[in-house]
Order: sequence, then C-alpha cells, then structure tokens
Amino acid sequence: MVDHMSDWLFGIAAALLGLGPKPGPTLTRFEYAETHMSSHFRIVLYTDREETARSASRAAFARIAELDAALSDYQPDSELARLCGQAGGPPAHVGADLFDVLARSRAMSERSGGAFDVTVGPVVRLWRRARRDRKMPAPERLAGARALVGYEALRLDPKARTVRLLKPGMKLDVGGIAKGYTDDEAIRVLKRHGIDRALVAGAGDIVVSGPPPGRDGWSIGIASLEPSRAAPSRFIALRDAAISTAGDAERYVEIDGRRYSHIIDPWTGLGVVDRCGVTVVARDGATADSLDTAVYVLGPERGLPLVEATQGAAALIIRSIDATVQIFESRRWREIPQAGPE
Ligand code: AMP
Ligand code: MG
Repeated sequence: MVDHMSDWLFGIAAALLGLGPKPGPTLTRFEYAETHMSSHFRIVLYTDREETARSASRAAFARIAELDAALSDYQPDSELARLCGQAGGPPAHVGADLFDVLARSRAMSERSGGAFDVTVGPVVRLWRRARRDRKMPAPERLAGARALVGYEALRLDPKARTVRLLKPGMKLDVGGIAKGYTDDEAIRVLKRHGIDRALVAGAGDIVVSGPPPGRDGWSIGIASLEPSRAAPSRFIALRDAAISTAGDAERYVEIDGRRYSHIIDPWTGLGVVDRCGVTVVARDGATADSLDTAVYVLGPERGLPLVEATQGAAALIIRSIDATVQIFESRRWREIPQAGPE
C-alpha cells in the first residue's frame, strides 16, 4: 500500500512538474567483426551495457562458428563434407542444423522448379577451377557433373532426421543459403541475450531485428550493377527483415568475351550469363539468400512471380542488355521506405 501510495504521489509530482514517462536507458552502438565461412561477418547492436554487448556478440559468433563447422564446403571434415562422402549409400543421420538447411533448400528447389538446387556441387567445383584457369570446363567433365545434379535425388526423412543422396558422387553446396540462415541464427542468439536492435551481415547477406534508437529502420545501401566499389546510390530502411543480393558483379569468369557468373543454371550446367543484379528483401535470411539465387537463375520474367508468391518478399532486379539498363521492381518493393545513408 505504501508502495502504491508513493507511486501515486510520484505520478502527481511528475504531472505537476510536467515530466513525461521515465526515459529509457541510453543505448550505445557496438560493432564487432570476425571471419567465418570465408566471409566477413559483422554484428552491429545497441544496448546500454558493454558487458551485455560483449557476451551477446561472443555467443552469436560462437553460433556462427558452429554452423560453419556443419555447413562448410571448404573444410574436408565438416558435417556436410562427411555426408557427401556417403553419397550413394544408405540414409545418414545428421545434426538438426544441417537437416534444417537441407529441408529449407529442398523447399526452395520445389518452389523455384529447380532453379535453386544445392545438388549443383559437382558443377560448382568445375566452375571454381574454370574461374582460376579462365578456361571453360571440358565438355565431358561438365556432362559427368551435370548428371549428378537434381534435387529429387536428395531424400530427407524428417522423423528419422536422415539424409540420403541417391547417386554416388553427388555433392551438396549450401553456399546459396548458408549465410542467410546463419545470420538468422545469430539474430536469434542476440535476442536470447536481450538484444533486440541488431544487424548481422555475412558478407552481403544482412538480417536485422529492431531499428537503431530513434530510427524507423536500419539504412541499407543497394549496390549498383557495376563495380561493387561504387558507393550505393539508394538506401532503404529495414527492420525485422533480411536482404540479400545475387549477381555477377562480384564473382565471375570471362571466357571468349562472355561473362559467366558463379551462380549455375542447373539445367545447362553453365554459369549464368545474364548481366544482372537481384536484390531480395524477405522476412528471414534463409529465404532472402536462396530466393535471390533462384530469381537470378530464372531471370526477371519467371523470377518476379516467385517473389510475389513468397510472403513478405520483395525484389529489385537490375539487368543490363547491350548497354541498356532495365529495372524491374516487385509490388512490395515499392512499399519499402527509402532512407538516407547511415
Ligand atoms: P549467393 O552468394 O547467394 O549469390 O550464392 C552463390 C552460391 O550458391 C555459389 O557460390 C554456389 O556455392 C551456390 N550456387 C550456385 N548456383 C546455385 C544454384 N543454382 N542453386 C543453389 N546454389 C547455387
Ligand atoms: Mg543468395
């Protein structure tokens, strides 16, 4: 009763003095970076205590490292590599993370009619060498690799949590979804530590939770089609969302005057030759990351309907044909608030 009375008295005193509600704690911006998955991972967050910022970001990076150990395509002892070593054999039991990523991947394969397909591994490897040597993969090797591609041969049993790769030699490559998925998980860890205003960026894949204090959203620059060094010309404000860009601006190989992207058309086994940048905003990172790859393979005409059919998703596609630039925007893209630079 005494407590209530003092609250009540304080309320009156506050009203008389013209005080508003008690101001919240002052939030400070903290930023951390580490390398995982051969990529630069950055965490930006707001909190009132440095100790909270430190412990939360440490836990988030530990989660990122854990996912790297499961999903890495480069580490020969990753869980993914061990699974691929059993291709052609009986179903293999896998950890919850790997299963979840493969289930999300397969779902995107089905939704995109196979444009997104993590079984492209054997073809991706040939093109990695092609990028190094600046030479087309040999046709017979390409044909052999292509014969191993097809998500229908990736069998998942959710009850037993097993994965079966039907063809010996199959190789999975989750490079088109892993960073977005990992960002989601890092944001989740930060929330568990009481941080609900954060940005996690795994290279160009970004997931954000609540906005910086006093702002409507995080200001995210949209890269232009050409040299990635050029400063972004437009910015959007995002909160509780993810953004990812796929395109040929970063990784490609030019052979005989044609530019082949590091993203593979699963039907031809060739690097996509469209000069295109696809930026996707979605509700979560795994969706944004896999959807931009799918739309890049499909092209604007077939890709935009897939974006429209994905809840909460939006896309901006910038395509250059014979020095003419075409811009395609999905319906929801036009509803995203614009922002100024950070
Ligand atoms: P991103 O960084 O999201 O543009 O994804 C590109 C990565 O996805 C490549 O480096 C490959 O590891 C992988 N990839 C390439 N082509 C495909 C495809 N058609 N479907 C799924 N993943 C792909
Ligand atoms: Mg992607």
